[in-house]
Formats: sequence, C-alpha cells, structure tokens
Amino acid sequence: MGVSPTQVLEALKSVVDPNLGKDVVRLNLIRRLNVGDERISFEIVLRDPTTDFASECKRLCEEAIRDAGITLPVNIEVDSEMISLGDDLQVDGGAAGPVLGGGVVNTIAVASGKGGVGKSTVAVNLAVALAAEGYDVGLVDTDIYGPSIPTMLGVRDARPRVDDDRKIIPVESYGVKLLSMGFLVDENKAVIWRGPMVTSAIRQFLGETSWGDLDFLVLDLPPGTGDIQLTIVQTVSLSGAVIVSTPQEVALADARKGVAMFQQVNVPVLGIVENMAYFSPPDAPEKKYHLFGEGGARRLADQLEIPFLGEIPIVQQICEHCDAGTPVAATLRDEPIGEAFGLLARNVVKSVELRNADLDPTQKVEILHR
Ligand code: ADP
Repeated sequence: MGVSPTQVLEALKSVVDPNLGKDVVRLNLIRRLNVGDERISFEIVLRDPTTDFASECKRLCEEAIRDAGITLPVNIEVDSEMISLGDDLQVDGGAAGPVLGGGVVNTIAVASGKGGVGKSTVAVNLAVALAAEGYDVGLVDTDIYGPSIPTMLGVRDARPRVDDDRKIIPVESYGVKLLSMGFLVDENKAVIWRGPMVTSAIRQFLGETSWGDLDFLVLDLPPGTGDIQLTIVQTVSLSGAVIVSTPQEVALADARKGVAMFQQVNVPVLGIVENMAYFSPPDAPEKKYHLFGEGGARRLADQLEIPFLGEIPIVQQICEHCDAGTPVAATLRDEPIGEAFGLLARNVVKSVELRNADLDPTQKVEILHR
C-alpha cells in the first residue's frame, strides 16, 4: 500500500510548536509536500528560525513520520519566512497587490453562483463548526445590501468597539469573531452604494480590524460571480474558495460559473457543498427525499475534478435556528444536522491542508488588477 499525503500530514500534526501551542500543519509550515513511491519530500517554512523549536523541528517531523509507521525515506528542507504570528491582517491595495499578514493563517471565501442557495447559512455554520473543532475562527459578512449573519449569530444589535490603536474589535459569538458590514453601514443608506464604494469599504474594514491569531478567516461573499465578488476575491490572498450549490440544474450551472471565476484568478477551489441536498421528515429520519434531484453537486465536483465537501439536508431546524440566532452547528452539534456541518468543517480543513502542502512556498495566489 502506498502512502498518501493525508497520512503524512496526519502524522505531522503531532509536531506542536510549544510557543504557539499549535501543530505544524495547522500553522501552515509544511509546503511542497511530495509523496512518491520511493520517498517523501517537503519543506518546513519556519516563521521564526531563532526559537529552540525551529532547530528541533526537522528532527521532530522525521520522528513523527517514523512513529506513524511510515518507512519511506524522508527528505526535508528547512526555510524561513519572517512573519510574526502576532501581526494583524494587512490589506494593501497598492500596485504590489494585497498582502495578507501572518496573524491569519488561512482565508476562505464562501461563494455561490446564485442567491438563495443557503450560502450565508453554510458560511455561518461552517465557521461555528470550525470553532467547535477547536480552531480560531473569524467570519466576515461582506453583504452590505442584506447582511444576515449578525442575526444568524444572535448579535444583530451588537456594535464592534475600537481598541487603543483605533482598530475594530470584532464581535464574538459562538467562538467566532464576526465583522459584518451590517454593523458598520446603515442598511437604508447602503442600498444606493455602488460597487467600488462597497469594495473599498470592505478593503478598509478588513485591514483595520484587529483579528489576532486566526486559523481560518471565512469570508461570506455576496451571491453571484460579478464585479463585486471578483474585487473582494482580489482584495485578500485567499487560501481557497468553497462553492455552495443546491442540486438543481440552474444552481449547478451557476456554481460552474463560480468555479470558473476562481480558477480564472488562480484561487484554488477547495470544493463544492451541496445544500438542501434532500429532505428527511422528522418522524422518519431514515428516509431521504431528493426534492431537487440527486447527486448533482457531487457529479459536478467529479467532472471539474474538485473535492466534494459534503451534503446538508433541508431541515426546518436550520431555518428556525438561523432566525433565532442559535446556529445548529453549535446548538445541535450532536444531532445529525450538527454532525453534517462538523463533517463539512473537517473536509474543508483537509482540503485546505492538502492545498497548503501542495503549494510552492514562494507561489502566491495570482491577483489580477482591474
Ligand atoms: P443565501 O446566502 O444563499 O442567499 P441564505 O443562507 O440566506 O441564502 O438562506 C436562505 C434561506 O434558506 C434562509 O431562510 C435559510 O434559513 C434557509 N436555509 C438555508 N439552508 C437551509 C437548509 N439546508 N434547510 C432549511 N433551510 C435552509
């Protein structure tokens, strides 16, 4: 049996930087992972090469792989990248392109080709499920025309404060640090905003927020694949995008456009989630009624050769809990619907880890300027 990249990454998760309390995979230190039939090679990109951990890291990684029963020869190169994990997210719209500082390890956009497919619902519950898995998570609701996420997280009336450095402190709910355009913009005035105003406001708010250290910053994009979405995508260096679709043909056609948009700007697509995949009556949970067709998103993922991240059924509780501000990913964590979001979160993490380990350390997501 050959060894898979996932097995190697799982083994490396036992190597923890004691200064940061996080493992080398979570910190995105493993790059250019290549698992062949005859050897394993990768680079460790250290953030601070001066620590004791840095000098031990290579040996610890070799040991971890051996301890996992993997016997292939291992070739590790050590490099360093001077990013302090205490830095805040830097957004710089200058000619050199946007820069993402070191405090935020991964930035994930949640997108859909079409409105009403449950993109915000998935973004919120994904963020909450990631937090429940123990990750440090931020969430940005970029929809200024109809921001719904503060309601979904039960913080509709909250207002973020500003710290001594005049940075915005996100509002925290269910372990997620939230920044919503809804906190900052008067909804009635926002409707007359034009695209460039929206994107410059988002750019500014992202860069002027004190996120601290985050494993994942989830961006809920407005629905569609137009100019606003493209500009937001180009504002931060994204680790990747999660596309939400329903099984309907019309939604799948738009999801395909969404995938194409990200691929055009070289943002990796982490996978597709099928929302409203089927309906199970509360009194017969073993039955699955595929109201909008069966398996469409999985087939699309196969065709486009991108991961299928999971399916979320139509469940009345999702809707009710969204309205009540008590997301099911936290409040019904041990029930099937909460578990579906937990599984989605774990699949997203896996996809991000593989994507990170696959990339050349010097390779940045290419940003096109318009
Ligand atoms: P979008 O962000 O794509 O416009 P929303 O997340 O706002 O969509 O969801 C639209 C509506 O559908 C909301 O009322 C939400 O509660 C409901 N909804 C979304 N996903 C589900 C689901 N899987 N089961 C039941 N209701 C859902």
